[in-house]
Amino acid sequence: MSQITKCEIQLEGKPADSVLEMPEPRKLFIPLESVRFSFDSVEVEENRSVQPGQVLARDLNNFSVPLLAPRAGKVKLGEIKNHIVLDEITQQEEEPYDHREDEAHIPQEMGSVGLKRYKLLALGAWQFVYDAHSSKLPDPFGTPRAVIVSTVNLEPYTAQGEAQLQKRLADFTRGLEHLQSLLEYQPIYLVMPDINSEFSRQLRESIRGYAWVKPVQIAPKYPGDNFAVIARKLGFNKEKDSPVWAMRTEAILAIDRALTLSKPSTVRIISFGGPMVKEPIHLKVMPGYPLKDILAERLESGPVRIIDGGVLTGAMVSEQQKGLTAECNGLTVLQEHSEREFLSFIRPGSDRQSYGKCFLSSFRGAFKERLNTALRGELRPCVACGFCEEVCPAGIMPYLIHKTLYSGELEDVEQMRVDLCVGCGMCSFVCPSKIDLRGEFVKAQEDIERELHAEEVQS
Ligand code: SF4
Ligand code: SF4
Repeated sequence: MSQITKCEIQLEGKPADSVLEMPEPRKLFIPLESVRFSFDSVEVEENRSVQPGQVLARDLNNFSVPLLAPRAGKVKLGEIKNHIVLDEITQQEEEPYDHREDEAHIPQEMGSVGLKRYKLLALGAWQFVYDAHSSKLPDPFGTPRAVIVSTVNLEPYTAQGEAQLQKRLADFTRGLEHLQSLLEYQPIYLVMPDINSEFSRQLRESIRGYAWVKPVQIAPKYPGDNFAVIARKLGFNKEKDSPVWAMRTEAILAIDRALTLSKPSTVRIISFGGPMVKEPIHLKVMPGYPLKDILAERLESGPVRIIDGGVLTGAMVSEQQKGLTAECNGLTVLQEHSEREFLSFIRPGSDRQSYGKCFLSSFRGAFKERLNTALRGELRPCVACGFCEEVCPAGIMPYLIHKTLYSGELEDVEQMRVDLCVGCGMCSFVCPSKIDLRGEFVKAQEDIERELHAEEVQS
């Protein structure tokens, strides 16, 4: 693994750590698709009343992970395509989960640990867990080599552990204890924020005496917090059938709620930032919360692009999407800037940060860039500047892989170790030609995996 990038990302619009509790919605618009999940198997009927925490749908390709009703309400299935709408919302306390019916699904040899793990799946806490190398949902009944828990999120505009943990440090440490009870001997690595911060001091104090928690300090710049980067730094390379589990602060809080109270976590704290947000902040909301209610009165005027997640790895929110997805942990809002800039090639660029130091801004002191969707002009062919290779934490050669993909040679791309790409998006960020290298590599990894799977089935 090459050294963590020298590129420092300084952007306007970072969300403050304070949390705004959004008012109760009148309706919820819950998308059936999110980044990792497709909740295709709908388990409720039109006009049926549901209780909070009740299963609305499942993703049968992902260990039947459930989509839970965040509030009591009446189901409307056909009102908006690819959404379950909950109307006539009322706020009620969730009933504690009763697992007896589900015991048949649990591997018998796992005993009480299997029961706890199934509970995490049933109460929605498992959806916050990742395979550190692939970012997929790991098997809840599998055996990890190690577990990474991170309170740090360095990608611009993403939700901060410090905001999510306010007044909940005791819940967090109890959640860590629950997590340990699911394991045999595997270590839990706790990724700590800046060692000198007050938050870091409180965290260290809260885990004093927990010999099974191993504090880890990471490079303080993005993508030092990427799970695959951390796993490799700890000496855990990718191994089939032997994953490293990875999760962030809110996973531990959800585990605590599931195993202490037997209740789902239906409310989330997400980030809401970007240069077009008047007051970037964290929001207390729930899946399905209407996007228009979040955005109303809170944006600068002008056309915007909404991104589900951080600016480097998030996905654009389509016009058809009406509410927050079950996985959304942040919204980023950029100015939509599609017009071609008049004589942009002779603009000195005093307001543009560039990894290549080709703008006048190189002579300015540190400043925060006001990012928009066309800051580096329009898409161009690769100019072989090599910036992508310099910033890549995986030590691969993005421009060569890009060119090879262009000629359709998937086998050669495999030889170039596209599998090592951790999807951080730094290459796309610094690329002066605005090539979506990250998007290309994520797709190439999926294509290769599909081909390997097909070969396995055939043999
Ligand atoms: S997204 Fe780009 S910079 Fe990040 S690991 Fe992949 S190739 Fe390297
Ligand atoms: S940063 Fe972009 S233009 Fe430069 S070598 Fe990489 S792909 Fe090509």
